[in-house]
Amino acid sequence: MKTSTDVVVIGGGVIGLALARELDLRGCDVVVVERGRTGDESSSAAAGLLSAQSDAESASPFFDLARESRDLYPEWAADVEEETGVGVGWRRTGVLRLGSPESLERFAWQLEAGLPVEPLEVPEIGRRSGGRAAPDFRHGIFFPDDAVVDNRRLVRALRICLDRRGVEVAEGVSATRFLLEAGRCRGIETTASTVHSRAVVDSAGAWANFDETLPFEIPVEPVRGQIVELTDEAPFPTVLASDDVYLVPRPNGRILVGATVERVGFRKEVTAGAVAGLLTAALVLAPSLENARVSDAWAGLRPGTPDGLPIVGESAVPGLYLAAGHFRNGILLAPSTAVFLADVLLGGTGGAPPLFSPERFVESARAG
Ligand SMILES: Cc1cc2nc3c(=O)[nH]c(=O)nc-3n(C[C@H](O)[C@H](O)[C@H](O)COP(=O)(O)OP(=O)(O)OC[C@H]3O[C@@H](n4cnc5c(N)ncnc54)[C@H](O)[C@@H]3O)c2cc1C
Repeated sequence: MKTSTDVVVIGGGVIGLALARELDLRGCDVVVVERGRTGDESSSAAAGLLSAQSDAESASPFFDLARESRDLYPEWAADVEEETGVGVGWRRTGVLRLGSPESLERFAWQLEAGLPVEPLEVPEIGRRSGGRAAPDFRHGIFFPDDAVVDNRRLVRALRICLDRRGVEVAEGVSATRFLLEAGRCRGIETTASTVHSRAVVDSAGAWANFDETLPFEIPVEPVRGQIVELTDEAPFPTVLASDDVYLVPRPNGRILVGATVERVGFRKEVTAGAVAGLLTAALVLAPSLENARVSDAWAGLRPGTPDGLPIVGESAVPGLYLAAGHFRNGILLAPSTAVFLADVLLGGTGGAPPLFSPERFVESARAG
């Protein structure tokens, strides 16, 4: 492994890989350090929903960021596909959210703001869902611009981008400590060697707070999510969502049923209760899945933060940058995070809005 570079990126999930690619495209020398294998953690566990609008209950800087990132996707995904020849499965399927008129009321602001949303009733719900939605659901909202991507193929493709471009990706190597000298971060110590650099980016997902010798905490904690995969050959044209579950169609008749949100520490078991709960909610939403085959189930650890928002930007230690805490939206936010942080690192004019800055957690200084 190189012992000196311009930027070290810790963690080869979707965030670290997307950032490393963006930095390399802009001529920056980058090394990625990955404890296991790239893409194997939360970024492979995700459902690949790019749901900027169908989860947004109010206008906010986060909503703007999510929408911007979703809208970067078609071109970004096409570039990655062209570089690698790997299809990443980006599709504008739309999301059809179903519920009572009262529960859907929280999305009415989008209609008033002139955003693309389509309130639906029966029989239009049946048509949009390809006959999948339960007839009990008589009200819905269709978000035509929300999309999906095959996140496992995406992380594989991003890795190939880096390999083709000659970016060093050190797998099986853990970052153990930030190298702090005269109040600046000047590299990292790893299980393999020390790497000196102008800047270090911590994009270690749920493990971002790995260095206990830092003078402040990085307030990221694991939030488990479980998914059950069903296989059913009949068409499933759009993402269906209720307040309890979402159903995401993938190629080859696969449908992802997700996802739990559990604060249980660094545990990735698939549990009977979660599987039962997800399947019950799935059959309420789409009863025609009753005879679908259960083809897989898995769990992953989302990087959660106290306010549910990502932490992107330079930390209180100059030279140490964070790209962490993307919680339920890291796949969605990967392109915009890469662009924002590359702008910041390379001294451009951009940068994440203050709402996402690490500075909002300055009170998280370590005791003692
Ligand atoms: C069930 C589930 C469903 C989800 N659905 C969606 C969705 O539909 N849409 C969406 O946008 N998001 C979704 N997410 C969230 C999304 O998966 C995450 O926000 C995103 O993957 C975070 O990416 P990351 O690169 O920060 O983390 P990760 O993918 O976890 O990558 C972090 C990497 O850092 C490495 N690492 C850790 N410690 C060290 C160290 N000390 N040294 C070196 N490497 C280290 C890890 O091995 C890992 O590879 C979902 C998550 C789950 C669990």
